Amino acid sequence: MESATSDPLKRLLDLQRVDSAIDRLTQRKADLPEQRVVDALVVELDEARAAHAAKKADLDGIAHEQSRFEGEVQMIDDKIKHESNRLYGGDITSPKELASIQAELDALRRRKNHLEDQDLEVMERREAIDRDLTALAEQLTELERRGTEATEARDHAAVEIETELNQNTAARAEILPEIPPDLLEVYQELRPKKNGVAAAALEGGVCRGCGVSLSPVALDAIKRSESGEVARCENCRRILVRV
Ligand SMILES: [Zn+2]
Repeated sequence: MESATSDPLKRLLDLQRVDSAIDRLTQRKADLPEQRVVDALVVELDEARAAHAAKKADLDGIAHEQSRFEGEVQMIDDKIKHESNRLYGGDITSPKELASIQAELDALRRRKNHLEDQDLEVMERREAIDRDLTALAEQLTELERRGTEATEARDHAAVEIETELNQNTAARAEILPEIPPDLLEVYQELRPKKNGVAAAALEGGVCRGCGVSLSPVALDAIKRSESGEVARCENCRRILVRV
C-alpha cells in the first residue's frame, strides 16, 4: 500500500478506512459479545449460589431434626433403663405397681420404635439432600470455572480492541495533516449523514459507497476535472476517489 502518496484524495480514502475501523472497534467495545457471555454467567452463578445456599439450609434443618430425634431416643433409653431397674431391682413387690411399670416400659418401647422409624425416614431425606448438595456444588464449581474463562476472554478481547484503537488513532493523527482543511471539512460534515462513510473509491465506473454505476457524462466530467477538484457521486453524494 502506497501510504506515502502525496495525493490528498488517496489519503482521504486512507482516513476513511481508519475512521471506519475506529467506528467498528468503538461499536464492538460498547457491545462486546465476550461481555455478554460474562453477564449471562454472572446471572447463572447467582442462581446456582442461591440454590446451593437454599439446599445447605435444608441440610442444616434436617441435621437439626435428626439430632432432636436422637436426643429424644436417648432420653427414652434412659427412662427405659430406669424403669427396668425398678422392675427387676427387687425393691418393688406390689404386683399392681409392677404391672404399671411394665405398662410404662411397653409404652416407652413403642414410642422409641416410632421415633426410630421417623429417624430412618429423616436419614433417607438427608441422604437425598446430600446428593443434591453435591450435584449443586459441582455445578457451582463448573460455573465458576467457566466464569473465570469468560472473564479472561473478555479482558483479552478488550485489550485487543484497545490496541487496535490506539493503532488506528495514531494512523489518523498521521494522515490528518496531509488533507487540505476544506476537503476535511466536507468529509467530516458528510460522514455522520452517510452512515460513517463519506469518501468512496471509484472503481470501474462504480461508486463503492453506494454501488451505483456513474453515468458516462458524470464519468467524463470527473475524467476531465482538474487535479485537486473534488468529485462527488451523483447518486449518494459521497466524495469519490479514483483508484
Ligand atoms: Zn455513490
